[in-house]
Amino acid sequence: MVNFRIGNGYDVHKLVEGRDLILGGVKIPSDLGCLAHSDGDVLIHAVCDALLGALALGDIGLHFPDNDNTYKNIDSCILLEKCVQLVRQKGYTIGNIDTIIAMQSPKLRPHIDDMRQRLAQVMNITIEQISIKATTTERLGFEGRREGVSVYATALLVAEQ
Ligand code: MG
Repeated sequence: MVNFRIGNGYDVHKLVEGRDLILGGVKIPSDLGCLAHSDGDVLIHAVCDALLGALALGDIGLHFPDNDNTYKNIDSCILLEKCVQLVRQKGYTIGNIDTIIAMQSPKLRPHIDDMRQRLAQVMNITIEQISIKATTTERLGFEGRREGVSVYATALLVAEQ
C-alpha cells in the first residue's frame, strides 16, 4: 500500500521600495521588494508551509518565529532545507510541488526556470518535480495594485519504502 500525504501553503508579503525581490531563492530585478523579517521569499515560505502541512507539523511561524533574531534577514533557502529535513526524518520523500505566484509585475516568466532550478537544488529533487506558475490578478486586489505578492503551494509527499 502506497502512502501519500498532501499539504497546502499560502503566504503574502507586502511590497515596498528599497528591498530586493527574492523569489524561489532568485533575485529578480524589480523596483519593489518584499517587506519581511527574513529575506521575504514569499514563494519559499508557501512551499515550507505546504511541506509542514503535509506532515501535520504546524506552520512556518511555529518552526521559525519572526520574533527570533536567529531568523532576521535569513536566507529562506535555509528554512526550506530544514523543512525538507523534517520530511525525510518522518520517512517521506517529495513527490511533487506545485505553486502559483500572484503578482502584477515584473513579468516572472523569464525567471521561472531559474527559480525551479534553485528550489530543486535546495530540496535535492529534480526540476521536473517543481512547478512554478505566475499570474497577474488583472490589476484587481492588493496584488493588482502592487501592494503585495501572494503565493499558493501544494506539496505531495510519498512514504519511503
Ligand atoms: Mg512569509
